[in-house]
Amino acid sequence: MKKFFEEFKEFISRGNVIDLAVGVIIGAAFTAIVNSLVNDIISPLIGLLTGGIDFSAASFSVGDATFAYGAFINAIINFVLVALVIFLFVKVINGMRKKMEKPKEGAPKHLCPYCMMEVDKAATRCPYCTSVISKQDDMEAVDVTGRRKLPDTQS
Ligand SMILES: [Zn+2]
Repeated sequence: MKKFFEEFKEFISRGNVIDLAVGVIIGAAFTAIVNSLVNDIISPLIGLLTGGIDFSAASFSVGDATFAYGAFINAIINFVLVALVIFLFVKVINGMRKKMEKPKEGAPKHLCPYCMMEVDKAATRCPYCTSVISKQDDMEAVDVTGRRKLPDTQS
């Protein structure tokens, strides 16, 4: 039982759970924004463009049963609009993320002394020519100015 609580404590204190909670709360608030955007701005715009078509009242009756197909069409239109708005938001956020990650890429690279390809600085073996890159090679391969020096021995 003690182990159970220890595991539970670990689970709660892990970042994911808090991230998830924040995500749910932000998501709920975000839904309100998207709904307002769709209902208050985009829907009237579509109504304006289509000459004031309002599906919500459209229905037909068979005997005692009423088929409010207009409301169903409205629900579909709303879904498509919400999906479109979310897609656009995600596109913008992804674009921003890509921009922020860009400087990271150019950071710790150096040239393989054997094939002169760019290799991760932490690599101990070149992915292009499979040569073993020792720390010694690393020091010799790139000097302070970033220029490559030829290795003493070629294999
Ligand atoms: Zn190489």
